[in-house]
This record gives sequence, C-alpha cells and structure tokens, in this order.
Amino acid sequence: MKPETIQEKKRRIQAIAERLAGSFPNIRVPLHHRNHYELLVATILSAQCTDEAVNQATPGLFRRYPTPERLSRAAGRDIEKLIRRLGLFRSKARSLKKCAERLVKTYNGEVPSTMEELTGLAGVGRKTANVILGNAFGVPGIVVDTHCKRLSRRLGLTGEQEPEKIERDLMRLLPSELWSGFSHRLIFHGRKTCHARKPDCPSCNLSDLCPSAER
Ligand code: SF4
Repeated sequence: MKPETIQEKKRRIQAIAERLAGSFPNIRVPLHHRNHYELLVATILSAQCTDEAVNQATPGLFRRYPTPERLSRAAGRDIEKLIRRLGLFRSKARSLKKCAERLVKTYNGEVPSTMEELTGLAGVGRKTANVILGNAFGVPGIVVDTHCKRLSRRLGLTGEQEPEKIERDLMRLLPSELWSGFSHRLIFHGRKTCHARKPDCPSCNLSDLCPSAER
C-alpha cells in the first residue's frame, strides 16, 4: 500500500475528529469538581484509577480540605486515610500535600495557568497539566493518556511510544482548536469501543478510516 502523505493524513484525522464529535458531543471532564483547585486534586488522583473511584473519594476529601491552605496544613496520614481506596494512595497523598504547599507559597492559593507552572507542581505531568489547561483555562492541549496513546497508534496517527512525542505528532496534524476535544474523545472512544485487549472493530464507526481495523 502507498504510504500516506501528510496532507492525506491531515484529511483523515479531520474526518476522524468529525466522527468522534458526532459520537461524543459532550466532552465535559467526568471528574466531579466545583473549582480549579478541586479539578487539579481530582486529576492528580486519577492517575491509574478510574474516574468513578476518584469521584467516590473526593467528596470526603474536599469536605475536610476545601482549599489549598487547608490541604497544605494536613497531616499526611489523614490524607492517606481519605484516599486509601485509590491506587498509589501514599505517593498521591504526598503529592497532594506538596502541591498544596506550592500553590499557597508561590501562587497565593490559586491554580496557575501555564504548562511550565503547572508541571512544576508535585504530581503534575504534561497529561494532568493539559487537562487543567483545557478544562479550567480554555487553553488548547492534547491529553495523552493510555487510551489516547493506544488509539493514536492503532489509527496510524503516530508511530511513537512516548506521550510527549505522540502529543507533538497530533498537534502537527490538527488545528489547535481541535486539540482538547479530539484527545478527550479518543479517550471516550477507547473506553467504549477500542478496548486495549479486544477492540470492537465490527461496531466501530472509524473502521473505514483505521488501518488497524479487523475486517
Ligand atoms: S477500527 Fe478497531 S482498531 Fe480501529 S479505532 Fe476502531 S476499534 Fe480501534
């Protein structure tokens, strides 16, 4: 088969983006939150955990620690107790406390709004930072989690393994106004149809656009 030109790939990803937008018109982040601080905390907690599990843990956590100031003064053991049902709860408890300390000390208790500042917070990598930038500040970004990585590779949009390189490849193919929506919808599609072990190609509405489709 003839290799795809960059223009052909751009047209194909545009078609994929349109189909996904039709399937998932609402791309609200499923983590429950009422403000930027709560979104940041919930997103840090969501690493290697389901959103449902995080949504069960956060009401108690936010009741007890409703602000970065309060969280920065918490005892690590108490945070652990409140999130102990989540994977990696000890290291997440440490990150939350350190993150809150920096928010108070450096940002006057506010969540900062740039990639550089966000990734300087404990527990925040580019993936988490892009969730915050896109959902809290309307700054376009590509969220590369395990679903986005798997689907981008299966759809032939990247050959890379590292999240940062995948992010770069997708950014080159799509206009910036589509970055956030596209990556969130890929995640939804991965959860619903293009599963890690057994992609459901026969019922996938992207199959004619996907080089990995089982025909
Ligand atoms: S056709 Fe199959 S491999 Fe391709 S995106 Fe759909 S479910 Fe995934």
